[in-house]
Amino acid sequence: MNVISIIEGNLRKVFNIRTPIMKYREENYCKKCPLAYAIDGRYTGICNKSEGGCGCGVTAKTSQNLQGCPKGFWGSNWFKPELFEEYLKDNHI
Ligand code: SF4
Repeated sequence: MNVISIIEGNLRKVFNIRTPIMKYREENYCKKCPLAYAIDGRYTGICNKSEGGCGCGVTAKTSQNLQGCPKGFWGSNWFKPELFEEYLKDNHI
């Protein structure tokens, strides 16, 4: 991840300049992903670094044009729903 992407993601988040694909990433992946939840089931909105995530807030993370999910569930213009579903089956929240 580079500094420009981090700035892009945070500016897009703050000013709510988010494309449909950015919202889709957050709604359909990050908000359902175990890495964005604490051990007690509370939604943190942070991609948990200690579990192999990137440590970013998911709203800013999903608002970066050229970056992807550290687990390989989505990228700049693609998704891997089967891989994500498999991960969810093995990692209940
Ligand atoms: S691992 Fe991917 S899908 Fe899960 S919270 Fe992090 S960026 Fe989102």
